Amino acid sequence: MNRVAPRRIGMFGGAFDPPHLAHVALGRAAVEQLGLDMLRVFPTGQAWHKARTLTPAEQRLAMTRIAFADVPRAVVDGRELERSGPTYTVDTLRDLRAEYPDAQLVLVIGADQAEALAGWRDSAAIATLATIAIAERARPAQTPVPFDASQVPGGHWLPVALAPMPVSATAIRERATAGQGIAHLVPSGVAGYIDQHFLYQPT
Ligand code: ATP
Repeated sequence: MNRVAPRRIGMFGGAFDPPHLAHVALGRAAVEQLGLDMLRVFPTGQAWHKARTLTPAEQRLAMTRIAFADVPRAVVDGRELERSGPTYTVDTLRDLRAEYPDAQLVLVIGADQAEALAGWRDSAAIATLATIAIAERARPAQTPVPFDASQVPGGHWLPVALAPMPVSATAIRERATAGQGIAHLVPSGVAGYIDQHFLYQPT
């Protein structure tokens, strides 16, 4: 079969512990607005900047596959989960660059991560390897606040328009642990998986 190589590839990483409706909405918006031929979705290994112990890798991978199953052009990629040690975005971008030497790579992130990006390992290399695409993220106070664009390495980025969705995986875990419903915050298949596997139960 004659396959056409993807020209524009999005990279979207997250702990996805669990994946929620804002992750899916952001993925869809990125594919549509950035004209992506493929969106590679990477559940992270133990992210260097997250101190909390994450839900086991295979469960986060399974939930991420369920969550993104209906997002056109999304491909969930488990490679970061196989790495020993911390996860670095720059390593995954270098992998993608080697696999797709002619493609434009686009790193898709929420605004909270955009502000932190300058502190990521090899942030200058990240900005060289990929175009940065940033979606606004509702703050805890539920008022979207413009992030400081001057913080973005390389100074160049593309906006992804996303209706503010005040949802976070942290809040979902806290609700579940407190015995409160989360079905309105995650895709239905993810809610079923969380139930079946007794995730985020009160300790
Ligand atoms: P946690 O609360 O555990 O830190 P999270 O909800 O922030 O998790 P991550 O898996 O860390 O989710 O996020 C993956 C990516 O999705 C990041 O780039 C983050 O900015 C983005 N993102 C997560 N939630 C939202 C949201 N509500 N709106 C826009 N972007 C979001």
